[in-house]
Amino acid sequence: MSSFNLKGKVAIVTGGNGGIGLGMARGLADAGADIAVVGRNAEKSKAAVAELTSRGVRAIAVAADVTDKDAVGRLVERVASELGRIDILVNNAGINIRKPPHALELEEWSSVIDTNLTSAFLCSKAVHPAMKAASGGKVINIGSMMSIFAASFAPAYAASKGGIVQFTRACACAWAADNIQANAILPGWIDTDLTKRARVEVSGLHERVLARTPAARWGGIDDFAGIAVFLASPASDFVTGTAIPVDGGFSIMG
Ligand code: NDP
Repeated sequence: MSSFNLKGKVAIVTGGNGGIGLGMARGLADAGADIAVVGRNAEKSKAAVAELTSRGVRAIAVAADVTDKDAVGRLVERVASELGRIDILVNNAGINIRKPPHALELEEWSSVIDTNLTSAFLCSKAVHPAMKAASGGKVINIGSMMSIFAASFAPAYAASKGGIVQFTRACACAWAADNIQANAILPGWIDTDLTKRARVEVSGLHERVLARTPAARWGGIDDFAGIAVFLASPASDFVTGTAIPVDGGFSIMG
């Protein structure tokens, strides 16, 4: 279907070298987009680029810490110069530090907020001129069930993911006139490196997730290909400012 076709488009996926970011990058590549994979781990990025290239698109690895404003500026310049344009930004890089508020240090708080929320601001602001000049673009931000719910062990993470939804809405309002749509995806519990540790650190988590998820399974990274293509393509041109759960029904379970 042509409204889902991304041929000729260029996407930046932060944290696209693994986990949910790689799942979305695979979907975007299968729809025809060229991909810039952003991460700090060069080995992981190299493997992701090899995989994406084998799907028949151009892909590059950009080593950058997305909390660093200058690095983000260089990243956007490099993508524009090597891939020629920027149409899609996926703000997916994220971390968690699992401690209750009274045990969390300021440095830990800042590290989570900077990685999960400030990075989305830095990257979105940096790509806006290119998208505006191209008369349109798509910003896709990754929230969480913690954008809706909370947990005693996730004060900074929940604050950052709640913030992502409101930041998305602000961008949607500010940039609608530039034909830039901004939307958020709220993943449920997904089997990635991030949650492997959670299953060890939070006792009973695995069973609780299965019991509360109507789909009765953890999500996989390829569950994010379809939503990424939809939100990156002309099919979603009248969809902006939303936060769409991709959670096997976790968020509607009473
Ligand atoms: P992973 O740990 O598998 O992936 C996180 C990615 O972020 C890595 O590719 C990592 O790359 C990158 N990253 C982290 N910090 C930085 C940084 N400072 N600069 C550049 N890249 C960075 O986790 P997930 O795939 O699970 O998580 C992806 C997103 O989905 C996150 O925003 C997370 O909060 C969210 N999410 C995940 C859920 C889950 O159940 N897994 C549920 C809800 C939301 P590198 O190490 O190379 O820097």
